[in-house]
Amino acid sequence: MSRSNTYHITCPSCGAQKTVELYESINAADDPQLKDALMKNTLNRVACADCKTSFRVDMPLLYSDPTHHILIHWMPETEAMPRKKILEDFDQTLDQINEIVPDDVSIPQVRLVLSRVELLELLFMIEAGFNPRVVEYVKYSIYSRNLEKVDPKEFRLLLNVENSNAEELCFVLQNTQTQELSSTLSYGRPAYDSMCELYAENPDEFIDMFPGPCISARNLLLDEME
Ligand SMILES: [Zn+2]
Repeated sequence: MSRSNTYHITCPSCGAQKTVELYESINAADDPQLKDALMKNTLNRVACADCKTSFRVDMPLLYSDPTHHILIHWMPETEAMPRKKILEDFDQTLDQINEIVPDDVSIPQVRLVLSRVELLELLFMIEAGFNPRVVEYVKYSIYSRNLEKVDPKEFRLLLNVENSNAEELCFVLQNTQTQELSSTLSYGRPAYDSMCELYAENPDEFIDMFPGPCISARNLLLDEME
């Protein structure tokens, strides 16, 4: 079941107070139209009646997709809620879930993302059948080979599923401060496909590298740089 709640917010443009209905959780199977809105970036978008500005409210969202047996928690990374704190808190929550859920109940795969673009990237990957761990492995090697140009502190590397094809995967760089998208990088699809075969034979190396719930090459690199 999807759930929304009433929130009191301030228009970032004119400062008017608004009472709005915003989604806190979405079930993609029950409410496919909400999933579409999320993928089109229109979910939790507010149009201010006073100044006509339209803006998005980024807040924690729980996304459940029973068809793919996955549960994604989006916790926006902010100054007040930095990456480390989100990851620590989430580990505790997961431990608590694992403690209370009986052994014979199958828990969906749980994923954690820290930004809206990563959430959308993951949704597109799931729909197109990409293996997120292999994709992050590819990103890890792109970052590692180009550390001077593609500094993980400065840039997110995102898979552009819609522009990827049978020959190559298309990645785009996003500046983490300005959110601007810049240059694109391509990676041979056959190399990705062979890695998927390796994964099918023995996924251990990939799982050791990206155990989850936050499966992210950038995160791993930021941790390694400390
Ligand atoms: Zn306004």
